[in-house]
Amino acid sequence: TVPVSASKEDIFIVDSPNVTYTESEIRSKYTYRTTSVAKGADGKYVATPKETLYNFKVDRKIPKTGMMLVGLGGNNGSTVTAGIIANRRGLVWETREGPRAANYYGSVLMGSTMKLGTDVHTNQDVNIPFHEVLPIVHPNDLVIGGWDISSMDLATAMDRAAVLEPTLKAQVKKEMSRIVPLPSIYYPDFIAANQEDRADNLIPGDKACMAHVEKIRQDIREFKAQNNLDKVIVQWTANTERYADILPGVNDTAENLLKAIENGHEEVSPSTVFAVACILENTPFINGSPQNTFVPGAIELAAKHGAFIGGDDFKSGQTKMKSALVDFLINAGIKLTSIASYNHLGNNDGKNLSSQKQFRSKEISKSNVVDDMVEANSVLYKKGEHPDHTVVIKYMPAVGDNKRALDEYYAEIFLGGHQTISIFNVCEDSLLASPLIIDLVLVTEMMTRIQWQAQTSNSETADDEFKGFHSVLSILSYMLKAPLTPPGTPVVNALAKQRAALTNIFRACVGLEPESDMTLEHKLF
Ligand code: NAD
Repeated sequence: TVPVSASKEDIFIVDSPNVTYTESEIRSKYTYRTTSVAKGADGKYVATPKETLYNFKVDRKIPKTGMMLVGLGGNNGSTVTAGIIANRRGLVWETREGPRAANYYGSVLMGSTMKLGTDVHTNQDVNIPFHEVLPIVHPNDLVIGGWDISSMDLATAMDRAAVLEPTLKAQVKKEMSRIVPLPSIYYPDFIAANQEDRADNLIPGDKACMAHVEKIRQDIREFKAQNNLDKVIVQWTANTERYADILPGVNDTAENLLKAIENGHEEVSPSTVFAVACILENTPFINGSPQNTFVPGAIELAAKHGAFIGGDDFKSGQTKMKSALVDFLINAGIKLTSIASYNHLGNNDGKNLSSQKQFRSKEISKSNVVDDMVEANSVLYKKGEHPDHTVVIKYMPAVGDNKRALDEYYAEIFLGGHQTISIFNVCEDSLLASPLIIDLVLVTEMMTRIQWQAQTSNSETADDEFKGFHSVLSILSYMLKAPLTPPGTPVVNALAKQRAALTNIFRACVGLEPESDMTLEHKLF
């Protein structure tokens, strides 16, 4: 029999005095175990186990959610939209290798599993789909809209992108043709000059102003009302912009940033204007490109309004491999001494990145991804010592969206020997990025329904003390190349750690212990 507290959709329930289910909530009392370390007078570390008690509260009602993309008509925008339509309708299409059916491969939430526990009878692992651990929105239910500086409807944009099979395109064409991006803001100086010919769908004005902020806020409100939505998540998947200069008095504080927008300062980028509009509208905003959208003033503004932001730059191909491989090498005790990363790609992203200032944004976001792993290993690396690291990107129209990423990892092994690993990674770029766009929306939406409070003797009743997570959502790091973290907190790039954080925070919300791979039950007889 199903316990009364489980809803019909739940595939499991946690049977623990620390977990309670109501119609509308899951509540868990959670003991967070860490180790605090101090250096004693004798120079030795003293490690002390520490316990912090938290209450978590999860809103079980799955909201009707909208996903608004900036850059909706681009390769990613059109591919993720077609992909969701294909899944929603359960489409099957012919390819030269036989029929293919819609799926969500490449999405952590929709395509991977996590261990729930061990079967009482067989002693074998019981794994459940990641998506089932909490009441997460299903991507098939997302209502999609957004903006683009190109006026093309999505059926035509999907043809321009040249990503999907013609047999799939034919089946989604009608529905795609009905989606036309809203006009957007375009400040030509921020993206490559070679993008100018697609800019035919513009909100008047070529630099930041409050009218732009207001127009974007109004677009979000109207989209919400037209589609009867409870919530909207906005994501930047538009062109990579150049970096904005960080100028005192302009974008260094929340107040200055708002003033700079009012005064039409030229150093405020379109992506920052979108971020500000979303923050003021209390709509989560995620940046999938590498530029510094989140200038200090934007981060401060988000914190002030308790609005969620996340970024930067989707981690889909080369960098994902890097953050897994370098994690492996350094944790294996192998001294990585250089990484040479070369790419060529032929899509519009590549064309935009062929311009030096936009390439520089990408180079920065791709360059810092091994820092935390190097710094954590004082056996292999002296303080300040780093592997050499070079990133090259070339535009090669012929290969289209099928980016080639060539990497050479060169390492020092036992007794002065060397290991060289060469990787040739053909990344079907938009097909790798689309599931990340979905994961980012799903995780972000879920985070808007999780609250916490420090456990105290009276916290049973003190409902008002529940708070949301920090407005900078570093839990999204697994999907992002240059993870934004709350000011002053460390950046984690190691892929396995990023996944563990996501998994274990979700588990804590339903009162489950962190995933431990000790499996003592199989080792102690
Ligand atoms: P794309 O060039 O095909 O699409 C970008 C779209 O944004 C275009 O349709 C363009 O017209 C539109 N655009 C530009 N400025 C705009 C603005 N101010 N407002 C609204 N729309 C605007 O590129 P893509 O391949 O879809 O990639 C999108 C972004 O994602 C790029 O910045 C890219 O670097 C980043 N990214 C992609 C991947 C990946 O595809 N695997 C990985 C990491 C990061």
